[in-house]
Amino acid sequence: MKNILILTVMLTMLMSSNAQIADTIIKSAKIYTADASDTFVQALAIKDGLIIYTGTDAGVNVYLGAGTTVKDAGGRLILPGMHDVHMHPLEASSTNGSSCSLSSAETNPENYKAIIQACGSTPNANGWVLGWGHSIYTLLNATRAPRLILDEVYPTTPALFMEETSHSMWINTAGLNVLGITDSTPDPVGGHIVKSKWGTVTDVDGILLDNAGDVAISVALVTNGTLQTNNYEGLVYYGLPLLAKNGITSICEGRTYWKQNYIQTWQQIKANNLLTCRVALAPWIYPDDNDATQIPAIEALYDAGDDMLKIRQIKLYSDGILINATAAMHDDYEAGILTTLGFPFSKGLNYIDASRMTNLITALETKGFDFHIHAIGDRGITESLDAIATARATNGDIGARHRVTHLEVVKTTDYLRFSSLNVTVDMQVTGDFTNPNHWHDNDNFIGVTRSDNLVPVKSIYDAGAKVTLSSDWDVSSASPFVGIQNSLTRAPQNLPNVATAVKAYTINGAYVMRQEDKTGSLEVGKYADLIMVDRDIFTIPNTQIGATKVVFTWLAGNQVYQDAVLGTAENMQNSTKFEVYPTVAHEEVYVYFTGEKATDSSIDIYDFSGKRISKQKADPDSFTNNEIKIDVSGFSEGIYILKFSNGIDQTKSKKFIISK
Ligand SMILES: [Zn+2]
Repeated sequence: MKNILILTVMLTMLMSSNAQIADTIIKSAKIYTADASDTFVQALAIKDGLIIYTGTDAGVNVYLGAGTTVKDAGGRLILPGMHDVHMHPLEASSTNGSSCSLSSAETNPENYKAIIQACGSTPNANGWVLGWGHSIYTLLNATRAPRLILDEVYPTTPALFMEETSHSMWINTAGLNVLGITDSTPDPVGGHIVKSKWGTVTDVDGILLDNAGDVAISVALVTNGTLQTNNYEGLVYYGLPLLAKNGITSICEGRTYWKQNYIQTWQQIKANNLLTCRVALAPWIYPDDNDATQIPAIEALYDAGDDMLKIRQIKLYSDGILINATAAMHDDYEAGILTTLGFPFSKGLNYIDASRMTNLITALETKGFDFHIHAIGDRGITESLDAIATARATNGDIGARHRVTHLEVVKTTDYLRFSSLNVTVDMQVTGDFTNPNHWHDNDNFIGVTRSDNLVPVKSIYDAGAKVTLSSDWDVSSASPFVGIQNSLTRAPQNLPNVATAVKAYTINGAYVMRQEDKTGSLEVGKYADLIMVDRDIFTIPNTQIGATKVVFTWLAGNQVYQDAVLGTAENMQNSTKFEVYPTVAHEEVYVYFTGEKATDSSIDIYDFSGKRISKQKADPDSFTNNEIKIDVSGFSEGIYILKFSNGIDQTKSKKFIISK
């Protein structure tokens, strides 16, 4: 024991005497490392993009050299770079879609005609007019087949409108003709062509559900040079900057349409050195493909890659979504909704059924792929776990890192299976629709009991599962801080504390991306993927976390985002600069405050006995260049205390003197 102690002391001395000189030092910070013991440190040192020290302001000085840049964080919070392990940045950024958006709040679908007409959309490079945003329930209110409504605006041009959830499409007659869909076309796997709900029993009505709609959009967006350029430019000029602004340094693409050249687009961005976050792609299993040819085609896409771009995940849909009644349920949907919808299934549908899923996982996990499985209904989730278990029985535990995503209705008997099968649970709570006040929006579909506890993040976390949080952007906001806030405020199904929620966005995401040894926490030897934020999310009320702004984002020590105001050198050093001047005033004093101000910011002035002399609101508009003038001409001589509250998280006070 004594020898080990001496050895440790000698090693420590040796290390400090050979201390490297850092490129950058960050000090006077509150740094949450997200390490195994939830350690907070004051300072860290970076060299060649890697963290070489974490610890105290005093300790970091050993790494200071002539060429070292020192950033004084002014007490601000530093976090590991955020991981968003399920999002759709290419589709969210592409200009291939349409700016013609419809309101899902509309109740009469005939009213959409004038809006679509006013959009005046021109066909894309494949000859299709595209739009989005309506609700399927608006179309179900129609008094005639919905395709006929679209036909009045586009009698000869194929037109396709994506419903707000993306799980169904509204199509006109010209579009159906291009796709070759007739009265006798059978449903594709995982989809449904709505027929005969209006008019004759053989009529195609113009609503394509789930994979029937996916097949249509893949034709409308079949890749050509123009569309691929649009994807590239959308990501470079819009998508990637937006991620950096949100503090996101690593992402998993939620679905890589490999037949539409998505992989080539990402590879081109990387080749041009324009990637500002680490990316894991997940080739999509096309439900209507034959697996005998699809499996080898996907095997050929495998690329363990490097620290910036990997292709070793697979996205697979087990089922659809609750509000189409296509999420796969163990028990029937409610009778009323089944009558309204008239779909030929009562327990939802499968994009990929249980036996096919088992075959795919069994074949592809041995090639090094981890599965990312969309499952929303309790049956879809059970089947996903069953398929993983069966593959494991065949292949043994080969260290696969599969995960299930969405998980809206989960059978209590499945809670413990995630940890026992080492399946990560990926949940989205950013969108309001998963919050408890919206649970019972689903009563018409699945009844009251099954609508309770949707997205049961607490139950599954408590059962020992590894949990990641993700945005599914642009289904929901890309801000991890909105997700963190919602994960904490959705009792009874909430995460226990801020650190757990941050880990769900950092180190756990890194595990899913097979990079937890390189990033995801701020520890010596890992990349300096980190962010500074404008407030301390560990101390403010949970309800204020969502408004957090990122000050800067670093990837491997390189700045990929800086807030134009918050990130200036002056503001960097003083998280919020607060001044009251002149200190000896006659007619007026000025309050200077650089931090964020809410509309209920206020300035109170007290005399030296503590009696309040004046009170005024100080909303952001009353500041000019962060400065506000206060009239004190009526004050008598003496010492006063000015107290400023920004209405968010800070209250500051300063003394000034009135002299006549
Ligand atoms: Zn998604």
